[in-house]
Amino acid sequence: MIDFAAITDKGKTRKDNEDYFAAQNNLFIVADGMGGHKAGDVASKLAVQTITKLNRASRGQADKEKLIEAFFSKANKAVNERAKRISHEQGMGTTMTLMLIDQEKAYIGHIGDSRAYLFRNGKLKQLTNDHSLVADMVQEGKITEEEAREHPYRNVITKALGSEEKIKPDIFSVNLKDGDRLLLCSDGLTSMVDDATLHEVLSSSETLKAAGNTLIKKANDNGGADNITAIVIDTSAKKSTQISLRAMTLLIAMIISAIFAYSAFNYVINNTFYIGFSGQKVAVFQGLPYRAGPLKLSKTAFVSKVSKEKLTPLWRERIDKTISVDSLNKGKLSVKEIEEEVKSGKGG
Ligand code: CA
Repeated sequence: MIDFAAITDKGKTRKDNEDYFAAQNNLFIVADGMGGHKAGDVASKLAVQTITKLNRASRGQADKEKLIEAFFSKANKAVNERAKRISHEQGMGTTMTLMLIDQEKAYIGHIGDSRAYLFRNGKLKQLTNDHSLVADMVQEGKITEEEAREHPYRNVITKALGSEEKIKPDIFSVNLKDGDRLLLCSDGLTSMVDDATLHEVLSSSETLKAAGNTLIKKANDNGGADNITAIVIDTSAKKSTQISLRAMTLLIAMIISAIFAYSAFNYVINNTFYIGFSGQKVAVFQGLPYRAGPLKLSKTAFVSKVSKEKLTPLWRERIDKTISVDSLNKGKLSVKEIEEEVKSGKGG
């Protein structure tokens, strides 16, 4: 099972929430809409809903990267065509950061400046690159990350879904490991909260819900200048199920071989007899004349009246070393013969 918590919040200064998200089964999407006259929320919602509908219809599609490409292309077409039809929605668009989790892989599709992060082994890594003017400027070394945060053009994105007829989203995959925590969020979070704070919240929160709530609260405490959306995902439960399934198979195999070994061993124990001494008396034993640690591998089956002291040194030595016999009865007969030899005073 994949565990997640998803939260969106209007923030402190915006009238509406133009962010839209989906979190269902293995599909997670954050979309941050833009465009005047409420067109932003139309774009983000239409794009996300187009994809969730497609996803329901396309279960079992093997090539996940192709599937994501189709998701983006169809969502782009839906938003772009609607924008052309409705005059006040012209030019609307949306960012889209999508994650599809399949087995031990996360497939990511991304356009705009929403983000995906991976928190692994105490380290936070941004998986997506912002398609924004300031990100390009940072890349070119013109400004620093800190300056980008305050830059007057920090909201200008260079790629969006819906505003052009054709788009080229980034599509890639990440191998997941046990204990990985993932974060998808809109820039309303990352413009208010730095990576160090994200790191701290993701590593210290007891539950995913608490992590999500704390992130939203921190963004609002720092001004809440934009709509804020955060989806926090844990995939460890899913993988531990797979591991335990593997462990279970191994355990069953071990139990079966143990049963076979035990049966074979029991067969030997139950069908093997020998003559030896039980205390000072000659006796017949069932099993093997050995010990396995504290465990005796035989039990006394018959104790005769013949004492060790009455035996000749040769018989004593032979019986000390134990004498194999085929069955309990044959053992008893042999003991009887020894007894008669002792009585007749012959000596072995
Ligand atoms: Ca935003």
